[in-house]
Amino acid sequence: MPFPAWDFIVGHEVVGFVHEVGPDVKKFKVGDRVVSAFVSSCRECFFCVRGLTCRCENSLTFGTPGLDGTQAEYARIPLADGTLFPAPADLKDQHLVLLGDIFPTGYSTVWHAWKFLPEEVKQFPTSAVVLGCGPVGLCGVLSAKQKFTKVFAVDSVQARLDQAARYGAIPILLNANTAAAIRAQTDGRGPDAVMEIVGAPDAFDLALDIVRVGGVIASCGLHTSTLHMPGLKLYQKNVALKFGRTSVIDLYDECVELLRKLVKEGKMDGFVEASVRLSNAPEYYDLFDKREIGKTLFQAVSSLN
Ligand SMILES: [Zn+2]
Repeated sequence: MPFPAWDFIVGHEVVGFVHEVGPDVKKFKVGDRVVSAFVSSCRECFFCVRGLTCRCENSLTFGTPGLDGTQAEYARIPLADGTLFPAPADLKDQHLVLLGDIFPTGYSTVWHAWKFLPEEVKQFPTSAVVLGCGPVGLCGVLSAKQKFTKVFAVDSVQARLDQAARYGAIPILLNANTAAAIRAQTDGRGPDAVMEIVGAPDAFDLALDIVRVGGVIASCGLHTSTLHMPGLKLYQKNVALKFGRTSVIDLYDECVELLRKLVKEGKMDGFVEASVRLSNAPEYYDLFDKREIGKTLFQAVSSLN
């Protein structure tokens, strides 16, 4: 009898050690310390070789009915040679684990937005807004600060805005005046780029409202409902849109480089707010739901640092 759809292990960000290898694994051996992308990828199919490993034709996503997740003592990693990375020895687990999803995902919005902006724009001071400052959004803020002159952070939770401000962003509380507040600080035009992290229609509406004419909206949020796309507004704004899941594997090397820099600068101190035993997970999921805690590392084995 098949398992019901809800009967699977959650979790898709992991750092750990190779316990056993299958016969096709050539790049890794037992004992290697590794990081996994949140989807498996073959690195050989149509999409993989075109820089879109997140849409690999042979992939499975961790923490779904199709593939058990990684919040467990052991996890099966399909297509391991394509899915795993050697863990850089100088980075701690609490930082490495971010490379499986949230750090590259936040980074990717900035990466896409920066690519979409014409070179002429970069001769002048630039501005960006990060909509949504949960853990992914904060990675977006940290990444945006590497490229954009002025970075605004928008959220309804003051603690998140405080953290974004510590990273150098200008905090803007989400309310009816958010768009006006941002326009007032961008010469009335709006920002060059909006990183839409939330994945909700309201967030997209706000992004389209505030982005300047000729700007970019880069969205990594998991949209599951129909968006309001006013054609005339899109036309009149000459706006570029980029949506979708992040190809962690394609961005891994540059994310490691940036993460290493941020760790050295002390910016990642306290980013992971708690490191607890896996058995405490239900309690910490509850705290996260109540927005009383941010990124949390679950330790399945005691050797994690
Ligand atoms: Zn593939």
